Amino acid sequence: MPVEPPDPDVRVHPATTVAASPIAGRGLFATADLAAGTLVIRLGGRLVSDAELAALIAAPGPYVDTAEVAEVVNVVLPTGTPAHFANHSCDPTLRRDGAYRLVARRAVRAGDELTADYAEISGPGFRMDCACGVPACRGTVTGRRRRSRPGGRGSPRSAGPATPPSAPAR
Ligand SMILES: [Zn+2]
Repeated sequence: MPVEPPDPDVRVHPATTVAASPIAGRGLFATADLAAGTLVIRLGGRLVSDAELAALIAAPGPYVDTAEVAEVVNVVLPTGTPAHFANHSCDPTLRRDGAYRLVARRAVRAGDELTADYAEISGPGFRMDCACGVPACRGTVTGRRRRSRPGGRGSPRSAGPATPPSAPAR
């Protein structure tokens, strides 16, 4: 399926602000009530392959904000956008809606932190320890698993850090 090209820039709902977050560092917060389904972030930037993305992440420079938009296709966001501050939550206030849209997953109140499930936006190489604090916290967040190839024998993980079979607790 062809990937719709992204806008060059990220658009973030005007009723948002960046402030200290109880989850991590700074976060993105709503400054007004937003109805469920409201478009909060429209991702934009340029499309790169998994290999190009890995090279970008390995290179010195600013943090690479990215989202997987299709199999081995990733959008890399321009630096300096408020979308950079959207933290992960295992019970997020935003949900993915198509390749580039993040919409309110439920009614958002002014002051609520705007969070995304990084598993919804990351490729299979992604892995992050999580302490978001919600009861349903998964502890470890990994990128979504790619559909297994027809006739494949599973083990879809071919890029990124492999999950150790029995990680030590600490
Ligand atoms: Zn969590």
